[in-house]
Amino acid sequence: MKLRYFLLTLFLFLSVTPLLLFQAWPHSEVLEGELDEVHERHLLLARNLAAALERYYRDLVTTFDLLLDTPETWSDAKTMLRVLDNLSFRHVCIADWETGRVTLTLASASAPCPKVIPQAEFERLKSLVTPEGVAFGPVVETPDGENVLHMVKRSGDSLAVGAVKTTYFRELGEAISFGVRGHAAIVDNHGRALSHPLADWVATRKDMSMISAVQRMLARETGVEIFYSPALKGDMIAGFTYVHPVGWGVMIPQPIAELQQKADDARRSAVIVLVIGVASALALALLVSLRVVRPIEQITRASSRIAGGEMSLPEVQGSSRFLPIEFNELSKRFREMVLRLRENMSTINALAYQDLVTGLGNRTYLHQQLSGAISEGQRGTLLLIDLDGFKSVNDMYGHDVGDKVLEAVGERLCTVLGVRKLADYENDELKQGPSTAFLHPLVTRLGGDEFAIWLPSEDHAQISGLAADIVERIREPIIVYGTQTVIGASVGLAQYPEHGSDRSSLMKAADLAMYDAKKAGKDRFVAYSPALMTAILDERKLGGEIKAGLQSGQFIPHFQPQFRLPDRTVTGVEALVRWNHPERGLLAPPDFLETVKELNLLADIDALMLDRSVAQLRELCENGVSVPALAVNLSEERLSSPEFLESLRTLGDLPFDLRFELVETMALDTVDEQLANILEEVRQAGCSLDLDDFGVANASVLGLMNIQPAHIKIDRNLICGIQEGNIFERMVGSIIGMGHSLGIPLIAEGADRLEQVERLAALNCDFAQGYALAMPMGIEELGVFLKNQPQPD
Ligand code: C2E
Ligand code: CA
Ligand code: CA
Repeated sequence: MKLRYFLLTLFLFLSVTPLLLFQAWPHSEVLEGELDEVHERHLLLARNLAAALERYYRDLVTTFDLLLDTPETWSDAKTMLRVLDNLSFRHVCIADWETGRVTLTLASASAPCPKVIPQAEFERLKSLVTPEGVAFGPVVETPDGENVLHMVKRSGDSLAVGAVKTTYFRELGEAISFGVRGHAAIVDNHGRALSHPLADWVATRKDMSMISAVQRMLARETGVEIFYSPALKGDMIAGFTYVHPVGWGVMIPQPIAELQQKADDARRSAVIVLVIGVASALALALLVSLRVVRPIEQITRASSRIAGGEMSLPEVQGSSRFLPIEFNELSKRFREMVLRLRENMSTINALAYQDLVTGLGNRTYLHQQLSGAISEGQRGTLLLIDLDGFKSVNDMYGHDVGDKVLEAVGERLCTVLGVRKLADYENDELKQGPSTAFLHPLVTRLGGDEFAIWLPSEDHAQISGLAADIVERIREPIIVYGTQTVIGASVGLAQYPEHGSDRSSLMKAADLAMYDAKKAGKDRFVAYSPALMTAILDERKLGGEIKAGLQSGQFIPHFQPQFRLPDRTVTGVEALVRWNHPERGLLAPPDFLETVKELNLLADIDALMLDRSVAQLRELCENGVSVPALAVNLSEERLSSPEFLESLRTLGDLPFDLRFELVETMALDTVDEQLANILEEVRQAGCSLDLDDFGVANASVLGLMNIQPAHIKIDRNLICGIQEGNIFERMVGSIIGMGHSLGIPLIAEGADRLEQVERLAALNCDFAQGYALAMPMGIEELGVFLKNQPQPD
């Protein structure tokens, strides 16, 4: 989850939780709380009011009784009237019990008593009388329209009547008001309104006894009641009580809707507070996400880009005083880190692409650049250069000199092409990437003594010119630490896209061309051609076949007889390898021996030849054919293999002499102790050594002295040129003379015409071998041939 969303969710949660809790909180409790409060408050008010009314009642009764007990005071009307007025008396009178005639009166002029109380009214008043004392009647209207309460008492033959105005009740009721429609209601002992917020009800003395709370008051109960108010058209709650002992009711009602309103108001306030809370939390979250999350996000984005290998600087905001110090510090350090990383990376890159010996680009660099060039469709030519003779420079003078030579070669290549070494470029130039680099010639070292050049050109003449220049420049002597060395270069060329449609096939094509240059004699350049590929493929096929042939015994010996001169008696046979190819028939060494050498199988061929030729000739001897000697060719590879001497020991006694022909091209001039030992052991095993192909390679008398061969074989290239008196004849003559002077007999090989045999005999050559005398032949043919030879005397 993104930090931004995480924070937003967190803030939302924090702000919404109270809202949810509030929502879950039972709201009816608010109302209940209010009702509870009403219980206590309203009941208390009602009681207080009742207490006040009770005092008023007692004042009324006391004053009334006092007046009845002291009729003499009635004459001082002025004082008494003031007292009565204070207590809201309208008047007080005493009437005859029988007639209703008023006998005594105390009243103001404005509210006089009648002379005689009307019959019906008098009867009603008399009915109110109780034996206990003063009694109060219900509220009634006087003829002049005023509401009064009558208090009555019988005293002897008279009825005392007091008319009390309801003013005090009204004032008391109005004094109690709360809320919008909260008020006190007071009823008389019959349930008629004495005080009520509806003035109408008071004026008409509304009978409220149908209200349950009023009924309970009249039943002299105290408590709280919820009821429907027809006056206010709604549910009310009221605390109520009664006035002892008269039985007036006092009630403090309040509309429940008003309480509901109050609870709703409280809830609304809470909701408003919560909404404000949520809004501020959101605003805060937004602020935090902008101020705090953004830098973190930027750094995160930059980090993932860096992880993806892109070393661009993050667009992290600079320091801001609105950000926490830690964030400013983090951004700053992060930028520093990226800068340092970038610096390190470019150094590493530079090193990763550089060859440390020459300062040229390395193989990785070439690969990268080539891939870049190819992906952009850039046409060009790849040159692979392999140094000739570098290995011996290294062996002879050591690696320090070798490295210097490589460095010099790198510099010469750069000079020929007119470019700089990779090490001479600034890091920034390299960072521009391959798109600019591969537009120029590119010189790299692949490793060892191999170099590669990418030329963004297809111009044959130009390329051939450059390749020739390269070969020529490298051939020039290189002087290192005062030592002069000379090396050469074999160069292979391949063009993109003609010779290879991708990097690796292009490299392979150039490599084949280079290989061909080496094979063709080194120190030259060869351009790749499809024919080359065919040849290479053929060679590869040949290699496979040779290996298979070795396994299945397709390689067999043929034998060419050697003759003594001048009598031409057979003195031995040379075993020559033949390949009995399943499709191509019998093949001679020129068809396959080069490949055998490249496959490092020459020693195997030699071993096979020794085994087979010895076995075949042994069988021939057992069949009664006499074989004077067997000559077997011995390659350097076989000679230096440990199994060679071992194989000699297992040969056992042979019915013929065994000779080994050593090729003169072996470095016999400097026969080391190891080689000398081997040669000695060969002699110890009873075999002799002949020196083969003498006269064409680095013929040296020193070599001759070193190995002291049993015979010297004069190379057939000298023999085939012999004509009477020519240079070849003189040359061969002097070789024979030299051999004889060292006491070594000579064998001339390759004599394909009889005149040559005769000339050789005339030159005192000891032995001859050649087509003129006998062709190489299979074992059966040889058996026949030897049987037909005249036996030596
Ligand atoms: P080499 O050792 O000099 O063998 C003599 C070569 O001269 C043979 O060729 C032989 O057939 C050929 N030759 C003989 N008389 C004449 C002639 O009158 N005119 C001409 N033009 N050639 C003649 P081959 O059999 O083709 O062998 C070629 C070379 O292959 C041999 O030269 C030898 O160096 C190598 N070779 C042959 N067999 C073996 C072997 O078993 N082991 C090794 N290491 N090399 C072998
Ligand atoms: Ca030979
Ligand atoms: Ca030879």
